[in-house]
Parts: sequence; C-alpha cells; structure tokens
Amino acid sequence: MIPYASAAEAEAALGRAMTWAEAAWYKYSVAMPDAWLHCHTTVILFVIYTITPLPLLILEQFAPSVILPYKLQPGVQVPLADSLRCYIEAACVFPIAVGFQLLSYPAAAKVLRTRMGLPLPSVRETVAQLVVYSLLEDYLSYWIHRLLHTQWGYEKIHRVHHEFTAPTGFAMSYSHWAENLLLSIPALAGPVIVPCHITTQWLWFSIRLIEGINIHSGYHFPFISPSKLIPFYGGAAYHDYHHYAGGRSQSNFAPLFTYCDYIYRTDKGYRYHKLKQAKVLLKSLEENNVDKKGGSTAFSTRKTD
Ligand SMILES: [Zn+2]
Ligand SMILES: [Zn+2]
Repeated sequence: MIPYASAAEAEAALGRAMTWAEAAWYKYSVAMPDAWLHCHTTVILFVIYTITPLPLLILEQFAPSVILPYKLQPGVQVPLADSLRCYIEAACVFPIAVGFQLLSYPAAAKVLRTRMGLPLPSVRETVAQLVVYSLLEDYLSYWIHRLLHTQWGYEKIHRVHHEFTAPTGFAMSYSHWAENLLLSIPALAGPVIVPCHITTQWLWFSIRLIEGINIHSGYHFPFISPSKLIPFYGGAAYHDYHHYAGGRSQSNFAPLFTYCDYIYRTDKGYRYHKLKQAKVLLKSLEENNVDKKGGSTAFSTRKTD
C-alpha cells in the first residue's frame, strides 16, 4: 500500500510531479493491500494463459488451411478435447495458486523484496532486469530440464510433459506438479537475486508465459518471430523438435535461447534434423525444376512441330 495520504504528498516525497504512469499507479494501488497486488501475478497469468492460445485454436478448427503452411508438424492434428483437458487441469490449479500466494505473502515479501510504491522503475531499469532474468532463467532451466531427462527424472516426472509429441499452446503447462514446481525456481531466481518493482514482476512472468505458450504452439510464423532481432533466440521450431524427438531426446533443452545447447553440445540432433530437412527440400525443388523443364521442353517441341 502506498504510504501517502494524497497525490500531493506523494509528489512532495518524490520531489517532482508524477508521470502519467505514476499517477495511474497511485490511483490504482493507493488503497490496495500489498498481498492483493502480489496475487495479481496469478490472476494476470491465468488471463494470459486463457487468451493467448485461443486465436490458433480457433483458426485450427474453422480455417486450418490459413495456418497450415506454418505448422511445424503438419501431419499431426492434436484433438480439441486434448487441448481443453490441459486448460481445465490448469484452471483447477488456479484457485489453489491464489490461495497459496495469499498465505505465503509475508514470507514471499521477505524473499522477493518487491517494491510496490513510487517511483515506478524507468524503462532502462526494467529492460536491464528483464535481460538478467531471461539469461538466468534460461541457464537454470537448461540444467533442470537435462536432469529431468535422466532415466529417473524422465520416468518419474518429465514423461507427463512429453505425452504431447506435437505440442499445443495449452499443453505448455501440462506437466507433473513436481516439474511445475521445479521450473518455477529459475523463473523466480532473477527477481530474488535482483529485486524489482511489482509491475516489472508482472511483465516478466507475462513475457515468460507468452514465450512458453509460443514455443509449444506448434507453429512458426517467420514474419512475427523475434529470431532475427534477438541473438541465439530458439523459438517454436526449436522446442517443437524437442517434443518431436520424444522422451529419448537429448537435444534442445533450453527454453528460450540456443547458446546453452550450443556450448554443451546438446543441439547435435536438431542440427542433423535441420540438415536432413534442407536436403529433402532441395531434392523436391530439384525434382520440381526437372518437371517444369520437361513440361516446357514438351511445349516448345509441340510448338516447333
Ligand atoms: Zn523434455
Ligand atoms: Zn515442452
């Protein structure tokens, strides 16, 4: 809760006028207990998880031909019932998560040291924190994921997540509860080591969730993919291969970037797969060219005759 009785008092404490964002934040949070602001994280994530996969799901049902060219495994159609099953399971966990957040707030506040008041963080501070959180999360997730691919980890925990060899957005959270718990450690590591404002936390967890849904979407749209803007960005094709290769996959463990797999040489399978795909594509293009040439020769022959 912001410890100022009025906006004028807040501005006096800041020593300047509030920005429009700070004024909006003041209005929104002035009478709200910190525990409720803390719980917003789960509510925001649930809304994002509900909405983000919907456009692709609707297109798949009503206009599949529009998105088929971008499907990573065009031969596999995940039944709508399976996607809905994943969603319902996540929805059942939602009230438990809110309750847990409320109960754990005093302890979480001590560990996370989240700022809730004024001033709001600058864009530079927010971006710098998000970069640190992303790199840290990617590195830790890589090693946890590798451990989950040991025989014990896979059989006891990770097998559930690999039930989908061609994943969909809602299957992003389809995992054993222990896996969901383990993978929340890398996501929380950044905010614990480098404390931030609650708005940065909301942004961080939202970006992470959207990215998680994207890499499980089963589609790669080159015109909106950030792969050309962000160095070592993996994207949907990268993680989709991990699911395609299945439980014995020892390739593509990192969730966001590709540098860990490159450094620890766990991208060999993917590179071989891409090479094979490129050869198949080249062969089909050559065959197509031969057919076209054959057609045009026949046509020109007929014309001459
Ligand atoms: Zn895996
Ligand atoms: Zn996955």
